[in-house]
Amino acid sequence: MHFIHVLPDDVIQLRSWTIYDLIDDWIINSSISPGRQIIFFLLSICGIAGIMVWVTMQMTEFPSLSIGFYVFIQIVSLAVTITIHELCHASVILYYGGRPRFGAKWMRGLGPVVYATTRGYFTVYAYRRVAVAPLVIISVLCIVGLFLGIGWWVIVPFIFNSIGAGGDLLSLRALKRYPLDYLIEDTEDGFTAYGNTLSEIVSLNDN
Ligand SMILES: [Zn+2]
Repeated sequence: MHFIHVLPDDVIQLRSWTIYDLIDDWIINSSISPGRQIIFFLLSICGIAGIMVWVTMQMTEFPSLSIGFYVFIQIVSLAVTITIHELCHASVILYYGGRPRFGAKWMRGLGPVVYATTRGYFTVYAYRRVAVAPLVIISVLCIVGLFLGIGWWVIVPFIFNSIGAGGDLLSLRALKRYPLDYLIEDTEDGFTAYGNTLSEIVSLNDN
C-alpha cells in the first residue's frame, strides 16, 4: 500500500519543505554563488527567447500568416503543456488511490504557479513517481513527435515542461534523504515528511 488517507497515530512529523526551502537546499548544497545564479537566470531567459524565435522562424507550415499567429500558437502550446503536465501528476495520484485537486496561485518571487495535489499520505516511493511523471511522459511524447516529423511543434512544449518540472526535480532531490517507506503529505507548494515504516502502517490498518 502506497497511499493512506489518515495518518497513523504514532508517526513522527519530520520536516516540512516549501518550494523556497527546496531552492535553498539546492543552491546552498551546490554552492552556487549569487552572482552566478543571476548570470544563469539571465542566460536562461535569453536562451528560451532565442529558441522560441528560432523555432518560430523554422515553422513554414503557414507562410502567409502573421507573426502574431505564431505567438498565439506558442501561447496555446504553453497552456496545453501545463495542462498535460498537471494531468500527469493527477493520473499517478489517481493510480495510487488519491483524489486529485487542481489549483493555481501567485507565489512571491516565482510568479503564477499551477499545481495538482491531494489530501492524504504517500510513501516516498509513490510520491517520487507522482513528482517525476510529467517530465518522463511529456519528454517521451516530444521525442515521439520528433520521429513523427513534427519536431518544431514539440520543442517549445519540451522546454516549458522541463522548466515547469524544476520544482518536481528539487522535490526528488530532497526526497533522497528519506527511506522509501516513509510518508509524504503534499502541501501544494511543497511537502511534509513523516517518519514511519510501511510495515507499521500496514499492521496499524489491519487492526
Ligand atoms: Zn510538476
